[in-house]
Amino acid sequence: MRTAIVSDIHGNLEAFQVVLEDIKQRGADRILCLGDILGYGPNPVECVDLVVEHCEWSLMGNHDFGALYEPTNFNAAAEASAYWTRAQFEAESDSKIAASRWEFLGRLRVRVTFDDFLCVHGSPRRPINEYVFPEDAINSPVKMQQIFDRVQKYCLLGHTHVPGVFTDEPDFYPPDDLEGVYKFNNGEKAIINPGSVGQPRDMDPRASYAILDEDAMQVEFFRLEYDFQTTMLKIHDIPELSDWLGDRLLEGR
Ligand code: ZN
Repeated sequence: MRTAIVSDIHGNLEAFQVVLEDIKQRGADRILCLGDILGYGPNPVECVDLVVEHCEWSLMGNHDFGALYEPTNFNAAAEASAYWTRAQFEAESDSKIAASRWEFLGRLRVRVTFDDFLCVHGSPRRPINEYVFPEDAINSPVKMQQIFDRVQKYCLLGHTHVPGVFTDEPDFYPPDDLEGVYKFNNGEKAIINPGSVGQPRDMDPRASYAILDEDAMQVEFFRLEYDFQTTMLKIHDIPELSDWLGDRLLEGR
């Protein structure tokens, strides 16, 4: 079974389309989304429609929650983007289509398990909001211990927009250190972050995602160029979205 894992699309249609096309070319049995379909980006509605069409399921991210219910712990730019995002769904004139989108968003789950995998957006402790940062592997051993205590074997999560693998040493390996592929080690717990489709923050502006192959017992990471110039200009054209949300796409931070 080959499972493509996408996360943190953040309303970036240009990036998501390129990722979906790449998944199609490489072949996957299904696509799962770890949340944050919305927020920051200029095409939240289109991205939700694509998730409905292509993904087996999606989790609830903090930005999905923010647009749907209330933006909590958001900075001013994120809060403004959450309200603008909500307004895009409210602007749908076809009431049936509008209702089915709200229905989909309202049913997003905060944790899903399959086989040996626990899936959350943020962390196993606080599934919607807690970040598991690469530097936590060095600076916060107690936090990492408490998080790994909640992982039976493997965990898939997003939220930081930084791809890579945490092991229970604890340690963190960016995809480059793994030559793009992590092979599951019997006995070693692992937390895998596929990175962000629509707003990478590891100083690489390319869209990020991963394919989990449960037969080969490995995860492969992919980076893809997309037209971030177009996405940036769309963001600049929307007064409610801070220009910085577009500018950061060029640098991947
Ligand atoms: Zn996110």
